Amino acid sequence: MNLRNFLLFFLLGLTAKFTVAQDDYKIQSDQDLKIYNGGKSYSAERFKEPNQSDTPKNVIFLIGDGMGVSQIFSGLVANKGDLYLKNFTNIGFSATQSASNFITDSGAGGTALATGKRTYNGAIGVDTDTVPIQNIREKAEVKGLATGVVSTSAITHATPASFVAHQPSRDSYEEIASDFLKTNIDVFIGGGLNNFNVRKDSTDLTLELIDKGYQVVVGIDSISKVTEGKLAGFTSDEHNITMTEGRGNVLPVATKTAINILKKDPDGFFLMVEGSQIDWGGHQNNTGYIATEMLDFDQAIGIALEFASQNEETLVVVTADHETSGFAIEDGNFTTGEVTSDFTSDTHTGVMVPIFAFGPGAQHFRGFHYNTDIPKLISELAGY
Ligand code: MG
Ligand code: ZN
Repeated sequence: MNLRNFLLFFLLGLTAKFTVAQDDYKIQSDQDLKIYNGGKSYSAERFKEPNQSDTPKNVIFLIGDGMGVSQIFSGLVANKGDLYLKNFTNIGFSATQSASNFITDSGAGGTALATGKRTYNGAIGVDTDTVPIQNIREKAEVKGLATGVVSTSAITHATPASFVAHQPSRDSYEEIASDFLKTNIDVFIGGGLNNFNVRKDSTDLTLELIDKGYQVVVGIDSISKVTEGKLAGFTSDEHNITMTEGRGNVLPVATKTAINILKKDPDGFFLMVEGSQIDWGGHQNNTGYIATEMLDFDQAIGIALEFASQNEETLVVVTADHETSGFAIEDGNFTTGEVTSDFTSDTHTGVMVPIFAFGPGAQHFRGFHYNTDIPKLISELAGY
């Protein structure tokens, strides 16, 4: 063997070894992501449901992005058999198909839940002809109620945007940020500061927010100290980090902060809260990502229920815009919180998702609904 052949042989050997190693890593990694080994658990209080009436003064609408029944069940097992969601006795289903696709995206899904109208995938608060549609938060605002949106994504992302903005495309983040200035929304808390102050048009919308009377506050610790007035709360420059990366209790704290400000309006309030990243755990086929985001969202639901139970005039509605990843639970352990699962997809699926309701008017959410029925029911019951 001459030197050239020796080198070639040596390099081929290296390449082969490297390729095998890469494949091993991939298989190992994918298997690992299907198993969640369990983590810290919490006990979920049981709340007394106020006597049923049909006229809620306040509405807290919580959307778990990508949250199907299996996502909820992964949370139930991971939390060793307990969830705030176990408080609900009024439970139904929602079909999520959009006007353009059997499988919706979060733009059309959010718009359906915000406006009661089906539209095309990618739309934000506009119909199939790209004409703006009034959403339930705007209806509440027009009637003089205080309103707010909270999310664990950028506040300009599809789900929260559907309750504020009107844009032909969900990707128009800067235009969506500008739409916040066209409303009188009282409180918004989420990521996405860069869409307001690092923009192609070089304008700084945080200055315009201040001119409009908003307290512009960055970071959840500072945000949580605000107790009144208009609040633009930014928890990150873009999206928030994940629970597994150490996000902590940003969503429950943001939910509590929003409720404490909004409840001061004597006319009542409408608040939308999104657990944004349950969906992203599905897209990544990552069981631990799904389960930990599910538990974070459940604790925000606990904050809403605690308030509703004491206040007695607040309707709490929980649903999802769609299921993500065809998530299936294959094994679990209620003692250790371990969950093993599998996935049929790395995108959304067409299956119906659950609806949970608590408080005045809750019984109307029982049974089978289309996603578009949910905001219509809220509007009828709340009177806007
Ligand atoms: Mg979303
Ligand atoms: Zn998604």
